[in-house]
Amino acid sequence: MSISVGILALQGGFEAHARILRALGAEPKEVRVPADLEGLDALIIPGGESTVMTLGIEREGLAGPLRELAASGRPVLGTCAGMIMLDRDHLGLLDVSAERNAFGRQLQSFEAEIEIEGLAGGPVHAVFIRAPWIREHGGSVEVLARVDGHPVAVRQQNLLAVAFHPELAGETRLHELLLAMASAPGGDQTPAVSRSE
Ligand code: GLN
Repeated sequence: MSISVGILALQGGFEAHARILRALGAEPKEVRVPADLEGLDALIIPGGESTVMTLGIEREGLAGPLRELAASGRPVLGTCAGMIMLDRDHLGLLDVSAERNAFGRQLQSFEAEIEIEGLAGGPVHAVFIRAPWIREHGGSVEVLARVDGHPVAVRQQNLLAVAFHPELAGETRLHELLLAMASAPGGDQTPAVSRSE
């Protein structure tokens, strides 16, 4: 049976994620109201405008149901504004503070090749559009990639967040990782990078 992946579709770039998921054999489902979250194996919160997305989540009463889905251990991927939505000041799921439009106004968008910890196959072609970075994070958050010293890809158990748009560059490995986490028995709770504690 194919893996059912919800994409929050209140606003922003959900269609490009849907195309990648279909190409990988998963079943994308647009999420607009809490009932759309039923039966999902994983969730993507796409890029867009975090202020608009916040209003939509409030309007539809989605904050509680989204938190429940994440708490159940099902994997969640946030990209760009999706990373912001997961942070302490928004859904409060990732123990990070995201800084909006962090790369500066003059640098509205850029592309970069970045190595992501735990992703084999060479650097990821990353498209940054008015992107955030992580200003500060707690000890349970693993930093998987940095640009200019600032974290731009992080993982905290079942939650993955990247400051860029993998879906706009034909990059499929983060979606593949999400699907692998969704199909791991009992949900993959293990960190991507082992830590000695
Ligand atoms: N700048 C947007 C925000 O602050 C994010 C941009 C994006 O998702 N590409 O919400």
